[in-house]
Amino acid sequence: MKNSYSKFKATVVCNFTGHDLQVSHTVNSKVKEYCCSKCGKQMTKTIYGNLVPLTDTYARINSALTDLAIKKSMRDSNTLYS
Ligand SMILES: [Zn+2]
Repeated sequence: MKNSYSKFKATVVCNFTGHDLQVSHTVNSKVKEYCCSKCGKQMTKTIYGNLVPLTDTYARINSALTDLAIKKSMRDSNTLYS
């Protein structure tokens, strides 16, 4: 109960002062996931540069982009040595 109250309080504080977003996961040079250190809200930057709440849809897109980035880096390193 105390936890949900303090989270509620943090959310109210964030509404006034803004979220204290810190990068929680870097998908690629454009897309990053952020987490608020005060209220724990998760946000993501889209490929278009918009900051939006991290929904299931965006989480799936980001994980697909992560897979693509890994495959691309593997392909690039293979090209280097062939
Ligand atoms: Zn916040």
